[in-house]
Amino acid sequence: MHEISIVRTVFETLQETYPDKFERITKVQIEAGLLSNIQPILIQNAFEALIMEEPALADIELEVLLLPIIAHCEACDKDFEVVRHKFVCACGTPSKNIIQGEELQISQVEFLEK
Ligand SMILES: [Zn+2]
Repeated sequence: MHEISIVRTVFETLQETYPDKFERITKVQIEAGLLSNIQPILIQNAFEALIMEEPALADIELEVLLLPIIAHCEACDKDFEVVRHKFVCACGTPSKNIIQGEELQISQVEFLEK
């Protein structure tokens, strides 16, 4: 399953990034662009499965934010949102110059105060 490896990678990354504070993490936010084909519900299911293996993670809240697809129009030098895979700016110029929508990243981590 695709999502379980994503969730696993997220927590491995956090463990490497915060070796001293990992156990105090209360909340993790992930930003996923719509082009990354991430489904928040599947991520949550995968996270539940991971908690079965590592019960210590049960105290962590995992939030997935979906980011819209944004492309840049050369003709009017503006960014526009791509809706329903329509890569055409309001001015009529087609653009596949994607500046947001493919990312998958940890955007926020909250820790329990000491
Ligand atoms: Zn335009």
